[in-house]
Amino acid sequence: MKLPFILAKRFVAGESFQETIPKVEQLNQKDIHITLDLLGENVDDREMADDTVASYIKLLKNISSAGLDSTISIKLTMLGLDIDESYCRDNLFKLLDVAREHNQFVRIDMEGSDYTQQTIDLFKEAFREYGKHVGIVIQAYLHRTKDDIAELADLGADVRLCKGAYNEPEHIALQNMAAIRQAFKEYAKVLLEKTSYPRIATHDDELVDWVKKYASEHQVDQSRFEFQMLYGLRQNTMEELADQGYNTRIYVPFGTMWFPYFKRRLMERKENIWFVLSTLFKK
Ligand SMILES: Cc1cc2nc3c(=O)[nH]c(=O)nc-3n(C[C@H](O)[C@H](O)[C@H](O)COP(=O)(O)OP(=O)(O)OC[C@H]3O[C@@H](n4cnc5c(N)ncnc54)[C@H](O)[C@@H]3O)c2cc1C
Repeated sequence: MKLPFILAKRFVAGESFQETIPKVEQLNQKDIHITLDLLGENVDDREMADDTVASYIKLLKNISSAGLDSTISIKLTMLGLDIDESYCRDNLFKLLDVAREHNQFVRIDMEGSDYTQQTIDLFKEAFREYGKHVGIVIQAYLHRTKDDIAELADLGADVRLCKGAYNEPEHIALQNMAAIRQAFKEYAKVLLEKTSYPRIATHDDELVDWVKKYASEHQVDQSRFEFQMLYGLRQNTMEELADQGYNTRIYVPFGTMWFPYFKRRLMERKENIWFVLSTLFKK
């Protein structure tokens, strides 16, 4: 059964690129940068993966022709990581060729822990070849992140730091919010000290305030990092941050395959369920 899009509308900008353009333009006008995410996950046949690469390439070209201030975020499982790693690498490089040609940027989202090592390995290969056109995401809740962040910071990688959105067992990830916040601060510090432009992805005031304070106390200029939040969450906060002179970027998902993304947002915060339920009762 296909659920009606009205349920997802709060977190997903549209089912097509055309529907999404006005939302991106409105945010750009408020001095907020965007990263567009064409929704979908875990493609298990080559035909679908090839179609996905073609859609991403079209997206990069459409962003240029629509004059939007937006990068793209992608998932390697959509490029065929479950099928074969070297096939996935070829697809990623095909996409990055176009990104480089259009002076664009592709962020590789981080998925569940089964994919962490492969994602980091493919990112490192891509970074050697495409440099500033590719970035990665690191999840603060993973125990392995201490080592990964040190390595990626030494490389000078462009890293988005987030808490982590997948259900992971205790031996793989921290389970307690206080410990996750503590780890997040520790890794944010490494990125602010060692990399040229870290991306701080959280809606958590405690972390946003901590980063602002740390940056001002350690002479890290506002222009040297950015805050990132998800479409539909805390837009007022993003506007306030932009007004205060911070760089901001909203992650804007769109597309017809919105259900897994939508489900993660619901599981994350019980308030999100209320937002969705309330849309059922509104005209
Ligand atoms: C731009 C971006 C990209 C991401 N990319 C990835 C990725 O590639 N891989 C991945 O695993 N995860 C990704 N995530 C998701 C991330 O890992 C977390 O699951 C998600 O951001 C929830 O954690 P949080 O720190 O934002 O806040 P939470 O832990 O959900 O909330 C902490 C506190 O923040 C405040 N807060 C949170 N939301 C709101 C709200 N809507 N209104 C008011 N207060 C609020 C509340 O005080 C709350 O108690 C991404 C997140 C962002 C923002």
